[in-house]
Amino acid sequence: MATGSQTSAARSEAPRTSTPVVEVHELRKNYQLGESEVHALRGITLSIAQGEFVAIMGVSGSGKSTFMNILGCLDRPTAGRYLFAGIDVSAFTRKELARIRNQKIGFVFQGFNLLGRTTALENVELPMLYCRASKKEREERAREALALVGLADREDHFPSQLSGGQQQRVAIARALANKPLLLLADEPTGNLDSRTSVEMMEIFQKLNEDGLTIVLVTHEPDISRFADREIVFRDGRIKRDERVRNVQVASEVLKSLPKLED
Ligand code: ADP
Ligand code: MG
Repeated sequence: MATGSQTSAARSEAPRTSTPVVEVHELRKNYQLGESEVHALRGITLSIAQGEFVAIMGVSGSGKSTFMNILGCLDRPTAGRYLFAGIDVSAFTRKELARIRNQKIGFVFQGFNLLGRTTALENVELPMLYCRASKKEREERAREALALVGLADREDHFPSQLSGGQQQRVAIARALANKPLLLLADEPTGNLDSRTSVEMMEIFQKLNEDGLTIVLVTHEPDISRFADREIVFRDGRIKRDERVRNVQVASEVLKSLPKLED
């Protein structure tokens, strides 16, 4: 679509002189599984600049989640280097990683992972419990984040009272609550129908246009075309890494999709 290429052209004019958000060099991850060793990552080298929207593709077992867990400071590599925003976190302790993760990284998962007996607003407030914000500040920021994903009128709803798409929006708002430098999403549309998936991409594109760096794992080629760069994993290695030509604009695509009854 023409509008898509315009958007990405406009975006690429912005100077990208700052430190990359992600820089990994010869990243390896082995898992010990009884007697044998699984080589989940076999030497990944790449760099992700601030403001990029990257889609990670690849068949099941190719190492996508392993890579995301390391990027998200949930796990450490067996070998290789990881610089997050210029800081070498490769040798960080679990506690140091947790601090970076809580302050700088937002996560969205396939299963939403919301607390069932807790309202949308409280779910979004959760990550802020570890920061020094007052109750009032936490609520304000949670309201802001919910408004950003179009759920301002649902803050008192419990997850069971929300559709799958709405629950995923709450999860995105929660991921944004701490104003992260990097948003990681591992198959966030895996449980959603196609229109709702595109609605998620509309939110991601909006956040990305506002400058947020996003790394999204998906096995759906239709979804990866909303990102501006596509990296394909195979057997723990990078098979392909290129810019998406004709980036799809979610708000445009939505116009051509039938509306579902809620
Ligand atoms: P993907 O997300 O692309 O499906 P994963 O990163 O989950 O791939 O897995 C990559 C490889 O590592 C697979 O062979 C998987 O079975 C293996 N693996 C992942 N996590 C573990 C673990 N905790 N222990 C042992 N093997 C694992
Ligand atoms: Mg996975």
